[in-house]
Amino acid sequence: MHAAAGFAAHATIDHASHIRQAPARLAAAWRDPAARFLPVREAQCMIRDGGAARLSADELGQRLPALEEAIFLGLEAGAPRFAIRIGAQEEPPVPGHFSGLRELLGLVPEQDAALLAYARAMVNWHRQHRHCTACGAPTRATEGGFVLGCSAEACGQRSFPRLDPAIIVLVHHAGRCLLGRQASWPAGRFSTIAGFVEPGEALEDAVRREVAEETNIRLAQCHYMGSQPWPFPASLMIGFHAAAASSDILLNDGELAEARWFSRQELATGRVLLPPPASIAWRLIEAWFDAAPGPATAGRLRDVASPWTAGASPGRA
Ligand SMILES: [Zn+2]
Repeated sequence: MHAAAGFAAHATIDHASHIRQAPARLAAAWRDPAARFLPVREAQCMIRDGGAARLSADELGQRLPALEEAIFLGLEAGAPRFAIRIGAQEEPPVPGHFSGLRELLGLVPEQDAALLAYARAMVNWHRQHRHCTACGAPTRATEGGFVLGCSAEACGQRSFPRLDPAIIVLVHHAGRCLLGRQASWPAGRFSTIAGFVEPGEALEDAVRREVAEETNIRLAQCHYMGSQPWPFPASLMIGFHAAAASSDILLNDGELAEARWFSRQELATGRVLLPPPASIAWRLIEAWFDAAPGPATAGRLRDVASPWTAGASPGRA
């Protein structure tokens, strides 16, 4: 009934962990004239010419930090990429502007959005782990910023970047799909069911629990479809399609203000506002919609549906 194939990830950076684990190679990457630096200021990333600002060492001049303060992200088309932290009150080092990630989703190329999300997630982790979680002493970054070690010799605690796994699922039943609306969303805006994985759960358990908690729907089976980093602040969205065994909706836990079954024809009217096409939620809906079994639909989702637009984009046309 539905697309069994997943969809490809779109990260174009090679994390090149062998470089960050070898100090001499890391130093060589830092000095590489092709190295570029991505400034992150608080939760904001720097944008230039409609894409991620990749600044050269020359452009940064005096504002290039020490290697120990930068984070090695990896290689992009063979060229080193580093994230660097800009102070909260500082202006961009060169003409350009800082923007929140949500505002730039869909406005910059997909591979740039993925790179900026990665840079921001790493800088955010550093900001939140300046002190050892075991003893409170200051931490020191090693391995290109991928390890934060305790500076107290007697402690030796090492921290690694963390992720919060969350499931997101398109539930379908008898040719319709289940979408929900959160209370804070405007009328007409709907998306797939999502929630954090809890300790002790397999991903499939989390899918079944979240759908049951939010809508009381029981699932017959679910299939993995793909995933997307969702750095708000450190989630990894793991996407599924699931076939429902029942169709009676009961809003159980108050997380959703509304949940309904939608036919393809209803989505094709454009009156239902769907998530932005850059999101995994859209892709889950699209994979189901476009796999229509018969001549019933009015085209592909991207041609007929209405995504809600991302927030205003300050500073850019
Ligand atoms: Zn410690």
